[in-house]
Amino acid sequence: MRTTDVIKKPSSLSFEVFPPKTDVGMQKLCGKNGVLEQLYTLRPDYISCTYGAGGTNIGKNLDVLDKIAQDGKATAVTHFTCIGNSREGIRQQLQNYLAHGINHMLALRGDLPAGWDGTHGDFHYASELVSFIRKEFGDQFTIAVAGSPEGHICCPSFEDDISFLKQKQDNGANYIMTQLCWDMDQFRRWMDAIRTAGITLPVDVGVMPILDQSATINMALSRNGCVMPRELTRMISKYWIFPNPFVKDSTDPDVLSKKIGFREEGIAYTVRQIRDFMDCGVNGIHLYTLNKFPEVELIASESGLL
Ligand code: FAD
Repeated sequence: MRTTDVIKKPSSLSFEVFPPKTDVGMQKLCGKNGVLEQLYTLRPDYISCTYGAGGTNIGKNLDVLDKIAQDGKATAVTHFTCIGNSREGIRQQLQNYLAHGINHMLALRGDLPAGWDGTHGDFHYASELVSFIRKEFGDQFTIAVAGSPEGHICCPSFEDDISFLKQKQDNGANYIMTQLCWDMDQFRRWMDAIRTAGITLPVDVGVMPILDQSATINMALSRNGCVMPRELTRMISKYWIFPNPFVKDSTDPDVLSKKIGFREEGIAYTVRQIRDFMDCGVNGIHLYTLNKFPEVELIASESGLL
């Protein structure tokens, strides 16, 4: 089944995993009874696997996708970026994905590695990558592209960012997967704005589960500059691990109970947000699993996605 068929359903469920750096991590994700096999039991329409920027961890990306493709329980979707990639390198890598039976992708510019001022590749933007793929490979790939409900952090204006998203549609993208967004008012504004701008592509909204204080702060601020609503910042303050949640050996006597409390409230927050997203008429929920199963299962079942 192609993802374009999947996303015509009222609401699809999909997951995102990342390629682990160690053999132990790979075993946990891809081994017998590992996270992938557990995720299949939730009957996702597709599972996507991230693609490390700047050439890191790309080999494992294909190993993970091979497992998903061979198991045949969900469509395998690779992320793919312009970072450090020449036209010829892209052509070869995409041919290799096809040879492995992987014909769905999320076409991205990619996160710029620290100190880089551009992609150091033949393409500067995802729209150019989409156009190249269509020219070279016709309709062999189903192509998703990224959308940024708060406007991409580097874009000078919200309107410009939407016009660049429209360019990705015009160049042949099939659907949108969004960046995380905790600000529901802003998400509704963005949905209205893209439709007004003539963007008709289905939208799968990316949902980052709130499970851990430092990871939540990191995700919001290290690259994306996301707005955190008061409810979320209040939760972070309530369970603040002293001296700060980034310190490994915290001396806070309540560290364990704070972590458990934060995780419980974070899961409830994520469930509420998924219901709000579904009320906005999105086409799918794309859960960033962080390679975890029990939390993902709980969120999916509590929010009525199963
Ligand atoms: P683009 O659409 O190219 O936009 C990048 C910036 O350039 C924006 O500010 C945009 O407004 C601007 N722009 C676009 N076109 C033009 C133009 N013609 N002229 C001037 N400015 C323009 N990154 C990874 O490295 N690996 C991953 O696996 C990965 N997975 C992701 C999964 C999801 C669901 C999402 C939403 C993002 C993911 N990312 C990943 C992050 C993504 O690569 C970054 O957000 C990146 O900074 C932008 O990618 P993009 O495809 O949106 O870029």
